[in-house]
Amino acid sequence: MDFDALFQTQLDALKDEGNYRIFAELERQYGAFPRARCHDEDAPDEVTVWCSNDYLGMGQHPSVVKSMKDTIDACGAGAGGTRNISGTNHAHKQLEEELADLHGKESALLFTSGYVSNWAALSTLGSRLPDAVILSDELNHASMIEGIRHARCNKVIWKHNDPEDLDRKLAALPANAPKIVAFESVYSMDGDICPMQEIVEVAEKHGAMTYLDEVHAVGLYGPRGGGISEQEGLADRITLIEGTLGKAYGVVGGYVTGSDAMCDFIRSFASGFIFTTALPPAVAAAARTSIRHLKQSDQERLLQRQRVAYLRKRLDQEGIPHMDNASHIIPVMIKDPVKCRMLSDYLMQRYGIYVQPINYPTVPKGTERLRFTPSPLHSVEDIEHLVLALKDLWKQCAIAHAVA
Ligand SMILES: *Cc1c(COP(=O)(O)O)cnc(C)c1O
Repeated sequence: MDFDALFQTQLDALKDEGNYRIFAELERQYGAFPRARCHDEDAPDEVTVWCSNDYLGMGQHPSVVKSMKDTIDACGAGAGGTRNISGTNHAHKQLEEELADLHGKESALLFTSGYVSNWAALSTLGSRLPDAVILSDELNHASMIEGIRHARCNKVIWKHNDPEDLDRKLAALPANAPKIVAFESVYSMDGDICPMQEIVEVAEKHGAMTYLDEVHAVGLYGPRGGGISEQEGLADRITLIEGTLGKAYGVVGGYVTGSDAMCDFIRSFASGFIFTTALPPAVAAAARTSIRHLKQSDQERLLQRQRVAYLRKRLDQEGIPHMDNASHIIPVMIKDPVKCRMLSDYLMQRYGIYVQPINYPTVPKGTERLRFTPSPLHSVEDIEHLVLALKDLWKQCAIAHAVA
């Protein structure tokens, strides 16, 4: 059997649709973010990264880098095992305490990534709680969807950010079934923010637990970076808060926080927690330093907000349509996978601007987009350069100046 031919047929189909993914090969430069060296042949040697999820540049913060180096010097490279068998290091416990404190919860549990934390926690809750039903927002992230699928429990999809639809769907379920309402605070592709208070009230009315993904909000919102739940004063009413250490905190890892009993339950039953090597202690220490820094410093958040507002204003002035939302994510809608790829290529090759095209299946077909994430380290000149490049290309590509 010619397996490669089978693989190739499907790859060719992706290419025909314009949905084949090409990765830019970059070399991040410590101290120069958002600049990166680019190893692609037809691009300039140095590019400005406009689509990083290292939202605040914490991946190169001197204190974060120093704590990673110091911990390597003190503890060496790897963790040495799974958490159960010799892998639980002091740095992991310290980080979990920091995370519990960040969200005002009794406990926290660390995972190797945010993806794994969602997958492991949702699949464990859904499969281990007898007769559980998971009610999932229709735009939830792939990691939550996979966790729910793996749980093999009943699931109900509710309309995106629609508490009334959630209310109806909760009301239709048996009163005594354990119900889990799973949703996000900031949705990463449209940058919209959920009506958290209404969702929490509906869940409370039906005795459901709430499972909140704050991946795109931790570090960025709330006086200590505790996310939208902190900003809205709702953290104590959310049963489980999940987050990542890989985006605004600039390192890698994922976690859940909640009651002692719930974290102990997930720790004890989640395959994705038990059977995998723990994060290197240096990673845990660096993440903790990043969280501690953003708990007491507002400077990065304030500057990021200024940059985001400024880019939006300049796009408006030049008639470049972008999705309006209350977050730091600026989607410029292209609505065609081939055009989206082409614009991204031109930006890289002609202007040294790197923004990855966002295509299916990350977003629905017909809603392809460029997604800009200004950081405190993008200068006003960087923004001008970007806006003028977009203006040029807009003329050449004859994309409608209509509001998305
Ligand atoms: C990126 C992402 C995750 C996964 O987090 P990682 O730490 O990158 O694995 C989970 N949820 C959402 C909404 C995300 O965008």
